[in-house]
Amino acid sequence: MARYSLPDLPYDYDALEPHIDEQTMRLHHDKHHQGYVDGANAALDALESARDSGDYGTVKKLSRDLAFNASGHLLHSVFWPNMAPESETGEPGRRLASQLEDDFGGVEKFKDHFSAAAKGVEGSGWGILAWEPEGEQLLVLQAEKHQNLTAQGVTPILVLDVWEHAYYLNYQNNRGQYVDNWWNVVNWNDVSERLRKARG
Ligand code: MN
Repeated sequence: MARYSLPDLPYDYDALEPHIDEQTMRLHHDKHHQGYVDGANAALDALESARDSGDYGTVKKLSRDLAFNASGHLLHSVFWPNMAPESETGEPGRRLASQLEDDFGGVEKFKDHFSAAAKGVEGSGWGILAWEPEGEQLLVLQAEKHQNLTAQGVTPILVLDVWEHAYYLNYQNNRGQYVDNWWNVVNWNDVSERLRKARG
């Protein structure tokens, strides 16, 4: 059975300054993301033991642990490459720009919608732009924690972590300023490539 491992950041810890500070990135990647990797693997190990013993008494807890930690790992694994140093962020590619026009009325309207969704997450969670293959469209979603409020079957292509651990050292309680500044480090090249892969 496969287990998860922590991916390296695709840039230095201080590469997103001044918008996201080095200390936040170190703690966020090395401690928080590692914790989700470890939690997901622990749940997988325990579920394997349950299959071996036939004792499924904790399957409800373990399934919940797996959903929380695996979702946390997978979202952070999209989040890091979704960002880049400010000088390397590029612009939305032609297909991405066209899709944002079709589904949101343009890039600026999409950004306003996404920002509002991210700022409005109740408690810890994420703003998510996802490809929805049945309707062949992009959806803006919120996630609470990592796993709640999603639409099943979608592929996240741009995600924004709005847990306090993502911004509190630099922005304190001002999530809105963090969200507004975050757009400066969105790696449009990566988002465009993720849409291309998701659409197949
Ligand atoms: Mn996080």
